[in-house]
Parts: sequence; structure tokens; C-alpha cells
Amino acid sequence: MKTQLALGVDIGGTNTVFGLCDRDGNIKFETSISTNDYTNPADLISTVHSKIKETGLLETIAGIGIGAPNGNYYTGTIDFAPNLSWKGIIPLAGMFKAKFEKPTLLTNDANAAAIGEMIYGCATDLTHFVMITLGTGLGSGVVINKKLIYGDDGFAGEYGHIRVIPNGRECGCGRKGCLETYASSTGVVRSISELASENKFHSILKQDDATSARDVFVAAEQGDLFANEIVNYTANILGNALADFTCFSSPQSFVLFGGIAQNGDQFGEKVKAIMDTNMLKVYENKVDVRISSLHDKNAAILGASSLVWNDLV
Ligand SMILES: [Zn+2]
Repeated sequence: MKTQLALGVDIGGTNTVFGLCDRDGNIKFETSISTNDYTNPADLISTVHSKIKETGLLETIAGIGIGAPNGNYYTGTIDFAPNLSWKGIIPLAGMFKAKFEKPTLLTNDANAAAIGEMIYGCATDLTHFVMITLGTGLGSGVVINKKLIYGDDGFAGEYGHIRVIPNGRECGCGRKGCLETYASSTGVVRSISELASENKFHSILKQDDATSARDVFVAAEQGDLFANEIVNYTANILGNALADFTCFSSPQSFVLFGGIAQNGDQFGEKVKAIMDTNMLKVYENKVDVRISSLHDKNAAILGASSLVWNDLV
């Protein structure tokens, strides 16, 4: 009998990446297509199906896991995703299941990342942890007793939209001061212009659209004092938020994933130091901060496919 494989599909605003991997996270096939090329999700599913069929591995698939923005685990639908051209409620899991005739689960991308860390990554030894993905926005997945928390409607654990600064930066959700407007790659870039007026240091950072969060972290490492101030400002807001989030679920660890977290060890260490300083006494010295071990692998495919091993097989 051939090894059973999971099909992991990560639907992104720009690209959809998908691949086949085994229970140990060995990827047997992977590719990507442009999400924007498909105005109809059924056409995208047909393309995924034909590319998987070409591999000759279709019959080895035990199940399908999908990570998608605004993905709802309970209903298998993508609900009003702002970054996709597919509007309204898309019953994507049901459509994949019908086309492939395989059991299919769907959740949002940060939840998939959390399960990916639990099955293949740096959280295999953890029972209670919180995944924090630092990308364009801030995504999160809350795991308690090795189970991801979905809540009443399937959208539990949206820590990126907890408001940390009263009347702070405008957020894409329509409110102000959400954590993700500060602790994300776009948040770091927004900090350049916001903090520049108070900046007393000569800086190599330019205030233009081409400057990325990575540029800020690279400049900070090279000794740029203003860039370092932005890194500290970001770490301060995130570290304080993690201290508060600890009160919700008492996690053993926060796992950070994404470009900001993986720019060297320093950011994670700074976040942990701020978190420790602001922690409620009962949690002191009990919570660690880890950096994802999947960032140099195909984390998106692993996260999506991990749903299969976690819940279906
Ligand atoms: Zn928000």
C-alpha cells in the first residue's frame, strides 16, 4: 500500500499554493497558481485537481486541508474575505470534497499555521499555546488542551483585532487601534512616518512606498538608531499584548511566525522581555516565546495539510 498523503491548499490573496505531504511533513509535490486568474472558485479547483492528477498520486490522498482568509471551520466556507475577488460566502470545502471525493476541512490561515506547528513544527510538545502570525496583518490561533478554539461561530481568537491603543491607527476592520495596525509588516512601515517627527537621529530609512518592514529590521541590525527605535516600539506593543493575552488561556508558549519574527533572534527576545516585565504575577516565568521552525519550509502547505492528520485521519 502506498503512503497516505494529505493535500494542503493555502488560498492567498495573490497566490494559491498547494501540495501533497505525508504524516511526517515530507512534501512530495508542490506548486502554486495565481488566485487572481480565477474569477470563479470552481475553475481554480479544476486546475488544482488536474495538476494533482498529473502526479499520479490522486488515489493516495487521505483528505484535504485548506487554509484561507476568513475561512470558517464549522461551515467550510470563506466568508466575505476582503483580499479575495470572490465575494460573499463561498462553500469552498464542499466544492473541493465534491470534485476530489475526499473528506475536506477548511479554516483560516493562522489557525492552519497553529495546527501545522502542533503536528510538524515547534509546538509538538505543547498542550496550550497561541500562534501569532506576523504578515500583512496579525493572525492568531489559540490552542487549549491540544485543541484549536473555534468558538460559537468559528471565528474565535482574532487577537489581531484586539484594540491596544485607544483611538489609535485606523484598521482595515473599520475600527481604531487594533494590534495588527502596529504589530505586522504594514504596521512597522506605518511607524516610520508616524515616529519620524519625533526622531532625533539621522537615519538611512526613507519615507517612501518602497521601504519595507525588512528594511527597518536590516537597518536596525546595522546600528541605525531610528530603525532600532521602531523595532523597540513594535516589540513593546506586541510584548504588552502577549502579557494580556496570557490572562485568557494561560498558554505555555506564544509561537511567532512571519517576516518580522524571523529577522534574527533579537525581536523575539525583545518581545519576551517586555511580556515578562508586564506579566501578571501568577504567570511570571511560566510563558515562553518561540519562533516557528517551519518558516524555511513550505509552512502554508504544511499548515493546511496538518488539518487532515489532526482531525480526519
Ligand atoms: Zn481591526
